[in-house]
Amino acid sequence: MAETILKVEHLKKYFPITGGFFQKTVGHVKAVDDVSFELKKGETLGLVGESGCGKSTTGRTILRLIERTSGKVEFENKDIFSMSKRELTKVRPKMQIIFQDPYSSLDPRMTIGEIIGEALLDHGMADKGNVNDIVLETMKICGLAPYQISRYPHEFSGGQRQRIGIARALALNPDFIVADEPVSALDVSIQAQIVNLLCDLQEQKGFSYLFISHDLSVVKHISTRVGVMYLGSLVELASKEDIYERPLHPYTKALLSAVPVPDPDYKRNRIILKGDIPSASNPPSGCKFHTRCPYASKKCSEEIPQYKDAGSGHFVACHLI
Ligand code: SF4
Repeated sequence: MAETILKVEHLKKYFPITGGFFQKTVGHVKAVDDVSFELKKGETLGLVGESGCGKSTTGRTILRLIERTSGKVEFENKDIFSMSKRELTKVRPKMQIIFQDPYSSLDPRMTIGEIIGEALLDHGMADKGNVNDIVLETMKICGLAPYQISRYPHEFSGGQRQRIGIARALALNPDFIVADEPVSALDVSIQAQIVNLLCDLQEQKGFSYLFISHDLSVVKHISTRVGVMYLGSLVELASKEDIYERPLHPYTKALLSAVPVPDPDYKRNRIILKGDIPSASNPPSGCKFHTRCPYASKKCSEEIPQYKDAGSGHFVACHLI
């Protein structure tokens, strides 16, 4: 069995809400609320859920781009929250992120060569003499032509800009990449190219992905296992096959029932959820999904369902299971 590269235990990230004359803390937005999972070497864990469910905040907190409220994240057996600034700088190249928006994540005043080479120089992984060789090599495997090294971001299409974002992450030879909605800002025709590129690169390099997306079709294509988030918490996590063929949680079932199927004769049983997503600053008591769940009972509004293994690593948080 492959080695565990990332271990997330009871991770919480609450953002304070301030109010009044003295800007006192009057509440919290519970963006990430007790999330636990493990990621193996070479594995892709897809993280899905509606907008605002805490997927991106989970990714960023794991990378310590934002500080946690509580919980633990171990990367290659080292607790990243107890690392000093120096230790964290050393480990940074191994943990990279690909951002959602290829338009705003690239500095418009820098050439592509400078954008990809910047972190290599900062981390002492290249010097002025060899940085361009590494940049050109990385550009090549990401499908960018050598002459583009001196071009600026505005000269590229959306798909090419995302290739630049991928090359920037890849140049540092990472072991783990958080891909935060990497294709959702792209045209559908380009999405497949980028997803295939991410799959090919993983096969060549063997790194692990935390692949964050609200698009269940994309996640199905790329993931080994899938976690489903609702209002900051994981409600189900299992192998891709179990999630898509044998979902257990009512929320996962509802999400899957909305995925388009390319078959005009297919009779869909769409599950329409009632009501809006409640606020993460005042989540419902008990099971957070009870205000929208078609199977909710009295117990659901009173008791928090335990997140437990229903068998063969299929984790779910629901009183019915
Ligand atoms: Fe629905 Fe109750 Fe299960 Fe929550 S615990 S998903 S409300 S049945």
